[in-house]
Amino acid sequence: MIAFADPPPAAAFEPSQPKGRSIEELTTTVSASRLGTWLQCRLKFYLRYVAGVAKPPTVALHFGKTVHAVLQQWSLARWRNAPLDDDAITAVFEQAWGAPEGTVPIAWETEEEEASKVNALAVIQTYLRETPIPVDEKPEGVEVSVEMDLASHGLPVLVGVLDLVRAGGRIVDYKTTGRTPDPKMVRHTTEVQTTGYALLYREATGQRETGIELHHLVKLKTPKLVVTEAGPATDQQVNRLFHLIDAYVDDLERRDPIPSPGMQCSMCEFLTECRAWQ
Ligand code: SF4
Repeated sequence: MIAFADPPPAAAFEPSQPKGRSIEELTTTVSASRLGTWLQCRLKFYLRYVAGVAKPPTVALHFGKTVHAVLQQWSLARWRNAPLDDDAITAVFEQAWGAPEGTVPIAWETEEEEASKVNALAVIQTYLRETPIPVDEKPEGVEVSVEMDLASHGLPVLVGVLDLVRAGGRIVDYKTTGRTPDPKMVRHTTEVQTTGYALLYREATGQRETGIELHHLVKLKTPKLVVTEAGPATDQQVNRLFHLIDAYVDDLERRDPIPSPGMQCSMCEFLTECRAWQ
């Protein structure tokens, strides 16, 4: 049987910006999202996690967090055998769209917020219409925090939160995107995250996941849903993840964050700080 703890209370939001943390702390534990930022750019990682530079969330990030919050409540309601109706979904959406207390608000352009908000609700409604998850399917787990001590491999503690585990041990991760994703690239670019989730699931349950599903909610004028199946994590993927974590620890201990200019810079909130780096 699954040993997942009770889900968190409704409408519990994570702060959008972490505070600065020491290198020791950042190498004692590691998460897939931190690894992802580090792989994108060492300087971005440093500014976000070590220096703790607070920035308003980007529109895309706010959009994604809102969609995620609504789907979290939708899953929790199914977990409680009390599915949400349309009015309840709209109410959860309105609450989630407002900036959580203590976060830096977005500097919206004129009329940008309303258009973005309408699109976000349409994306959610499309998902709820087209999702492969039956409304009466009770999840195994929702928003489950898990830790896995990798000391026997000479590595830190892997930490993470599983968005949703469907009945039968299928791990689901939600993503919002502006472009229709290519399945092969999805499996490749999400590998760090999906392999980490697979390990955490095994740690929490003592069982092997039966599959991993990436649910991409595509923010087109007419929104759509693309579900990409990734099988259970392989031993090769686990080895690759362990090697990456090892390199992450070595790199942080060198304390020499360098910028990695590239396509990702157009989405980076630290361009000003980056240009001042020397
Ligand atoms: S602007 Fe680009 S190079 Fe600079 S910190 Fe951001 S991602 Fe890194």
